[in-house]
Amino acid sequence: MTIWNLGSINADMIYAVPHLPGPGESLAATGMERFLGGKGANMSVAAARAGAQVAHIGAVGPDGRWAQDRLTEYGVDTRHIDGVEVPTGHAIIAVDAQGENNIILFPGSNHAISQDQLGQALSSAQQGGLLVMQNETNLQVEAAKMGRDLGLTVCYAAAPFQADAVQAVLPYLDFLILNEIEAEQLRQATGQSVTDLEVEHVIVTLGSKGARYYHRGTASDFPAYKVKAVDTTGAGDTFTGYVLAGMDRGMPMAQAVSQANRAAALMVTRHGTADVIPDLKEVREARF
Ligand code: ATP
Repeated sequence: MTIWNLGSINADMIYAVPHLPGPGESLAATGMERFLGGKGANMSVAAARAGAQVAHIGAVGPDGRWAQDRLTEYGVDTRHIDGVEVPTGHAIIAVDAQGENNIILFPGSNHAISQDQLGQALSSAQQGGLLVMQNETNLQVEAAKMGRDLGLTVCYAAAPFQADAVQAVLPYLDFLILNEIEAEQLRQATGQSVTDLEVEHVIVTLGSKGARYYHRGTASDFPAYKVKAVDTTGAGDTFTGYVLAGMDRGMPMAQAVSQANRAAALMVTRHGTADVIPDLKEVREARF
């Protein structure tokens, strides 16, 4: 089956600076690197690396064709990524000598996905496939409703957390994944803890503590693998992509979560995001 991902695509522009600039300050960076990022792109790459067939639905501007090409290289079907006349979504990330950062995020093309494009993409979706979204694009509710109508398993990563966005898609979800902080934000915003939700599968990721899976009133714990973490960026997206790939292959959920835990543990031992997400062979062979 195909995993359909209505997802963001970002250029992560990382500038090395001697210190983080203050108000009114002009500062020369000592280095600059550009990486493929965005939660959507990361999840597509992770699921494809895990062996799934992934079709990404998204948009890039005239400055973003390289990002689409990179996704294609990683095995993602990019035929439903539209070119739009809006700058590609990007993050401008300043990192100082101590590793402290600040980030300016510009959604750009990620908010310019058209309803026609979405409809056209999903018109070839087959019942029983998976649809995933995160909160970095437009059209999440429309996609969730379409996914439901088409008999897809509708999955949502509640990040970056925004109470109204999560509440709007909740009625259509089969699977919700969020981290510990987002679960607490959801509780504060709605008064509902994850056990109160009418969503069949819920996973709360717990960073170095692993993950907890909730299913019909039962919670199962999956402790994290012990590794030396050097960079946790993209760990959550790698985890989600691997869980989805497992579900898509018809794995029992416990096995899909265990495999995702392994993939994410390996990911935190590496610097970088989409470009360094491990493939299935590496995940299977990793010794922790
Ligand atoms: P991020 O936003 O940094 O991508 P997140 O906040 O969405 O991550 P986390 O709960 O921090 O998600 O981590 C996701 C998964 O990554 C965890 O469930 C776990 O499997 C793995 N993980 C994260 N940190 C560690 C760690 N220090 N050691 C081993 N595994 C880790």
